[in-house]
Amino acid sequence: MPSPSRVVLFALSLLLALTVAACRSVTHDDGPTWAIAIHGGAGTLDRAAPSSAQAEYRASLSKALELGRERLRRGDSALDVVEAVVRVFEDDPLFNAGKGAVFNEQGAHELDASIMEGHTLACGAVAGVRTVKNPISLARLVMEKTRHVLLMGDGAEQFATLTGVERVENSYFDTEYRRKVLEEVLRERQLKGAALGAAQAAPSDVRHGYGTVGCVVRDQKGNLAAATSTGGLTGKRWGRVGDTPVIGAGNYADAFVAVSGTGTGEQFIRHTVARSIGARVQFGGQTLQQAADAVVHGSLQPDDGGIIAVDRHGNLVATYNSTGMYRGLADSSGLFDVRIFDN
Ligand code: ASP
Repeated sequence: MPSPSRVVLFALSLLLALTVAACRSVTHDDGPTWAIAIHGGAGTLDRAAPSSAQAEYRASLSKALELGRERLRRGDSALDVVEAVVRVFEDDPLFNAGKGAVFNEQGAHELDASIMEGHTLACGAVAGVRTVKNPISLARLVMEKTRHVLLMGDGAEQFATLTGVERVENSYFDTEYRRKVLEEVLRERQLKGAALGAAQAAPSDVRHGYGTVGCVVRDQKGNLAAATSTGGLTGKRWGRVGDTPVIGAGNYADAFVAVSGTGTGEQFIRHTVARSIGARVQFGGQTLQQAADAVVHGSLQPDDGGIIAVDRHGNLVATYNSTGMYRGLADSSGLFDVRIFDN
């Protein structure tokens, strides 16, 4: 007869072995507990750009991704993380959002942003704001403090005053580099005598026009969120608004996917890019990668741009049809990867 203490010891060892096995299988079957993707736009440097310039972008991308990783590790919500990461990009002059935004045809800045929470479908957006330092936070306030989804122009500015978000002069967003690009775009437009409403952008509009920032997240609870912010296209006219504040086009999250896009906004609106990717996963049985490839390489034209996305299992995707896309991926399995081009 084994002694009672031996029986207790045996039972405890069995319990421990079962617990370890259960933990292993949870980790294995459920994939990463959290996952994050970021992008800083599809309008990248030339491949031939000096390595110091590329290093600068990589450092900024790593900083934003590290912040997201730390916040997710400590259990913050997907919504809080996407907002915090996009604010970092908005404050960084290297990217076309917030400080460093492109100029419109009049030499001013008009900023667009949107944010969405997957499990509630709550969303908010602003378009054409001129004095809001961090448009993504105003978009979140539209989502949380109003019954509306999208506020634009003067109305959005009035709402900003009511909420007390940080304001700046429009010139705060200026950078030398973006001014040079505007001058180049306007010169080329004049040379080509671009017709009013010309369907195609001039080549340099395309070359320098991209740039937007975004973040998608699956948090530890399995909730998804997406946030996207931009200055739009260089030399834009007539109050032009792109896809970034259009829910389902440049930004979208539901219980299945979260998607953020960058590129020719008109194309993203036409093809409802972000929602189409979600619908392919939700109703079409496609994996996130299949859905993203079908839309980015099937529906869009070469050089239109790209997307980042995460699904409810924590699978991450970054797909683009441009030369490159500033991007980064991280998850709780240890992945931490920042890239500009294919390799
Ligand atoms: N999609 C943005 C827009 O069209 C621009 C970009 O991503 O570069 O406003």
